[in-house]
Amino acid sequence: MDTVIIAIDGQASTGKSTQAKKLAENLRYDYRDSGAYYRAITLYLLDNDIKFDLNISDKILDKINIKQTYQEGQFSIYLNDDDVTDKIRGHKVSINVSNYAKKPEIRKFVFNQLRKSSESNSLVVDGRDIGTVVFPYADFKFFLVAEPKIRAERRHKQINDDSVKVDIIEEEIKQRDKTDSTREIAPLKKAVDAFKIDVSTLTIDEVFNKILQKIKSD
Ligand code: C5P
Repeated sequence: MDTVIIAIDGQASTGKSTQAKKLAENLRYDYRDSGAYYRAITLYLLDNDIKFDLNISDKILDKINIKQTYQEGQFSIYLNDDDVTDKIRGHKVSINVSNYAKKPEIRKFVFNQLRKSSESNSLVVDGRDIGTVVFPYADFKFFLVAEPKIRAERRHKQINDDSVKVDIIEEEIKQRDKTDSTREIAPLKKAVDAFKIDVSTLTIDEVFNKILQKIKSD
């Protein structure tokens, strides 16, 4: 069976997964959140006190079993059979994940999981390096960007906790972009053939319509 791959890459908190899920539903494709793999691995390693400056051996990685599902509009991720869907969005994982995601052995692990998923399903995948490294031959590629301040304000609203200051979120977002775009392996960058969308002043539906229009017109 010929499968179709749609890559949605971009900066942190630009709504990549919101768009990818809407698209998967609209086209009846499966959905994979590549960042969620990095987050689940980070959660496992933090919980087991394995620091990011150590080599993460195959022996350790072999103990990590991750499964993602997307059914009836609901995304879930399981780490060794535990549902960690909410836990991977916690602050501790968020501030550590980019350091673990730099590591080649961890990137290889996620790369393999994603490639395997694509063997039997058409997929919408969101991330940082999907159109450049994981699926360079993807059928459609999008790259989302937005002003850091706007992303921080949106994330702040989502968190819905006034004790978390918007300036701090903005700094964390900038730091994450910096770590992601300056790393040696698979840095965050637009694939030459990706369609770039600045979502700063667009609503979710406006971005979605642009993506859909592009897919239908090609
Ligand atoms: O997309 P999300 O913010 O959940 O991703 C968390 C982190 O995982 C990113 O900041 C990045 O460090 C890493 N990541 C990556 N490559 C991907 C997806 C995510 O390095 N394809």
